[in-house]
Amino acid sequence: MNQPDSSPSNFVRDIILNDLQTNKYQGRVHTRFPPEPNGYLHIGHAKSICLNFGLAAEFGGKTNLRFDDTNPEKEEQEYVDSIIDNVRWLGFQWQEPIHYASDYFGQLYEWALKMIRENKAFVCDLTADEVRQYRGTLTEGGKESPYRNRTVEENLDLFERMKNGEFPDGSRTLRAKIDMASKNLNMRDPVMYRILNAEHHRTGNKWCIYPMYDYAHGQSDSIEGITHSICTLEFEDHRPLYDWYVEQLGIYHPQQIEFDRLNLTYTMLSKRKLLQLVKDGHVRGWDDPRMPTLSGIRRRGYTPEALRNFCKAIGVSKTNGTIELGLLEHHVRDDLNKRAPRLMAVLRPLRVVIDNYPEGESELMEAVNNPEDASAGTRKVPFSRVLYIEQDDFKEDPPKQFFRLSPGKEVRLRWGYFITCTSVVKDEKGEIVEIHCTYDPATRGGNAPDGRKVKATIHWVSAAHAIDGEVRLYETLFNCESPNDLADLNPRSLEVLTECKLEPALGSSEAQFRCQFERLGYFCADNDTAPGKPVFNRIVGLRDAWAKIEKKTK
Ligand code: ATP
Ligand code: MG
Repeated sequence: MNQPDSSPSNFVRDIILNDLQTNKYQGRVHTRFPPEPNGYLHIGHAKSICLNFGLAAEFGGKTNLRFDDTNPEKEEQEYVDSIIDNVRWLGFQWQEPIHYASDYFGQLYEWALKMIRENKAFVCDLTADEVRQYRGTLTEGGKESPYRNRTVEENLDLFERMKNGEFPDGSRTLRAKIDMASKNLNMRDPVMYRILNAEHHRTGNKWCIYPMYDYAHGQSDSIEGITHSICTLEFEDHRPLYDWYVEQLGIYHPQQIEFDRLNLTYTMLSKRKLLQLVKDGHVRGWDDPRMPTLSGIRRRGYTPEALRNFCKAIGVSKTNGTIELGLLEHHVRDDLNKRAPRLMAVLRPLRVVIDNYPEGESELMEAVNNPEDASAGTRKVPFSRVLYIEQDDFKEDPPKQFFRLSPGKEVRLRWGYFITCTSVVKDEKGEIVEIHCTYDPATRGGNAPDGRKVKATIHWVSAAHAIDGEVRLYETLFNCESPNDLADLNPRSLEVLTECKLEPALGSSEAQFRCQFERLGYFCADNDTAPGKPVFNRIVGLRDAWAKIEKKTK
């Protein structure tokens, strides 16, 4: 058994601990993560993955990866592949082999026959609309189907003919015979099988009847010997039905435990809605860095460690709530702060000419790679007569509290010299195109021997040595805390800057390389990066409002 986790316990973990003490499953802990391959995984799934794999790992157990692929119309191999890739990226290893609900289609069919033979299931000719009408409501009981009392022989015959493809889609269903008066709508003779002449991504055209998710899910857990079927709260009302099926079939009975779904501010977590964003072209694809999909946030530059820490921090509970996006970003910064090398990049360049620096010369300044990590060492950054600084860092007529560069003012160039602005050059439209400065050679490395102070330190890149690059800045995809639909999309969620100047070391960045651009945030080389043509995504800015809130409330 692994070392017990030092993180605080939670009610799911407590149940498992108790089951281990009472030897309920002979010491076994076997969980599973059961996605439907109808879209890419999102950060909500990360919570479920961390919980299932984390608990099993803690107690020396196993976790299956199972695709609940019972709906051929919405499922695709592309989704299967992306899910496998994402789970691995998050850092988890499932128990081989990968499972599929479709592997159990034969067994599920046999079990359906058994239920028909025991008069616990019947073939129903009501249309989908009629089934809905007969079902009743939360306050009103349902009505029994007129086909409910067919004989076992007739049911066996019709079900076999359903399977043989004799009937059109939607014309008949197989339904469980439970109780149309039940308070729980899921127990009102739920549909077990539907006719669907659709090609399945794994079973091809072998089947034209498909089990409903509710008929397949509990039995799949049972077949795999799952001990703790951990799922989200909306399945609480389905538990009596899952229990009913495994009890009627007399098969091994896993224990279902429900926990709260993750909701995040400014974020939509529903594969159906995310698919719409992709299909309608509101984003560049499932892996657009603004998407809350694991592929998206991975491309953006979030680390698996940060996601796991976030999931640990939010824990699990029995009531749904909403987590602040700021908390997720806090964990991303927290992780990158320790590991990301610091480099310099200028996103909106302003040309600076240092008049008293010799023309045609340059020198190498020593820069610390990561003040949080001495082992990251130092690097050399070229300095010369013409530099770029951030347009924002200069103001011709500065307001009172503006301490960066302005005419007559002196500032420090990070790892460089003190410079003082002497004049401004404008074009015919009156726009500033270049500023002129002088430098003080005695301040090399950033300190004045006479002890004089400057109020600001700004970053820069030597013009002659700069690498051209593209930088993509992101805001939240939605502009309100609880977005409902596309009307809440943030039109400013993406800003592309194509004239950025990067320090030379960034020229050889490979996709997924993460670093801090000093003063600007954490950045990650995008997959669009090509040799000599870096493209960076801003992962997250530097300011951590969440850290401040945490401090205040402590
Ligand atoms: P969506 O509604 O986004 O499509 P889903 O629940 O239909 O999600 P599944 O593929 O069925 O997606 O989910 C696989 C597992 O992930 C399930 O056990 C589900 O409960 C869990 N899960 C899905 N969304 C969340 C979430 N937001 N928070 C926590 N767990 C989630
Ligand atoms: Mg679903």
